[in-house]
Amino acid sequence: MRQMRPARILITGGAGFLGSHLCERLLADGMDVLCADNFYTGDKAHIASLCGHPRFELLRHDITFPLYVEVDEIYNLACPASPIHYQFDPVQTTKTSVHGAINMLGLAKRVKATILQASTSEVYGDPEVHPQDENYWGRVNPIGPRACYDEGKRCAETLFFDYHRQHNTNIKVARIFNTFGPRMRPDDGRVVSNFIVQALCNKPITIYGDGNQTRSFCFVDDMVEGLIALMCSPSDFTGPVNLGNPEECSIHTLAEMVIELCSSRSKICHQSLPPDDPRQRRPDIHLAEKVLDWQPHTSLREGLKKTVAYFEQGLSKNQNLLNNSL
Ligand code: NAD
Ligand code: UDP
Repeated sequence: MRQMRPARILITGGAGFLGSHLCERLLADGMDVLCADNFYTGDKAHIASLCGHPRFELLRHDITFPLYVEVDEIYNLACPASPIHYQFDPVQTTKTSVHGAINMLGLAKRVKATILQASTSEVYGDPEVHPQDENYWGRVNPIGPRACYDEGKRCAETLFFDYHRQHNTNIKVARIFNTFGPRMRPDDGRVVSNFIVQALCNKPITIYGDGNQTRSFCFVDDMVEGLIALMCSPSDFTGPVNLGNPEECSIHTLAEMVIELCSSRSKICHQSLPPDDPRQRRPDIHLAEKVLDWQPHTSLREGLKKTVAYFEQGLSKNQNLLNNSL
């Protein structure tokens, strides 16, 4: 008699911030997890506690090259997400999104796996529609410094829908809005980690521009729930679906909240705004609420408290790492 075996799940980018939380959660749910990562922005330390687990396997692999494995589900998360990292080698960023999508979709087609794409709110660019819903086509500068990421992710979405129409591949597309939490790297460059590290070291908080631009920040545990809910959704539901926390906040308010939660003596300093920086961003999550029965439960303040606690621990362990990241 054939034994029932756990579902085999491939997570590309599994050693990254979001991916490592997803690996942990799916292992806890009894799945067989294969993490593939080239460690471009990922960190072995994020998954060190999982290595040695009988249902966990780690593979050093760059998804711009084909991968031949047998799996039931694929979460395609591999791609640097922070502007400083994705702009460092923009050609590689586009290759990761586009060649990576072709390779992972080819794998999904061959083994008949369901594949989920970690797309992004960046497909909406600097939006004229607020809040953004999934029907909005976006306003992206195709030749700006953010384009390697934005257009790469947009092209990946195109590939996902063409594989679905042409080859009947089971796809799920999540448009992820700004997500934060423990395991962001201190040198990640994104706003939440920058502000917390600066505040804990009592260094100036670097607001780019006037600080009136807005973002909506989702705590990582809520995002992981959303991604799993999407993977488990009815097979005829492909998305794209927004996943994020609609609690919108200006960057200035975020800076003040972080200073308060860190009991910091930091002062705010203003630096120039990077080109094409979106003015506002807030997800309309009605579709996720309706189809996935999902909504975030962690407020920005609660999530920040947990994230500050994580960085405080790191600070006491490794003062140099934090100082060098500033
Ligand atoms: P991250 O940079 O922490 O993780 C990305 C992971 O992908 C890293 O481990 C990195 O080493 C790996 N990687 C990069 N290029 C690769 C390649 N060619 N082959 C194999 N591995 C590669 O970023 P994150 O915040 O965890 O984001 C994960 C995914 O979610 C990304 O696809 C990102 O675009 C998407 N996303 C994240 C956010 C967010 O706010 N965190 C928002 C929107 C979308
Ligand atoms: N930002 C900032 N100071 C920083 C880092 C970022 O003011 O030290 C701003 C950035 O210009 C943007 C917002 O914070 O307006 C969010 O930036 P992040 O890189 O986290 O995400 P994204 O712009 O991709 O949403």
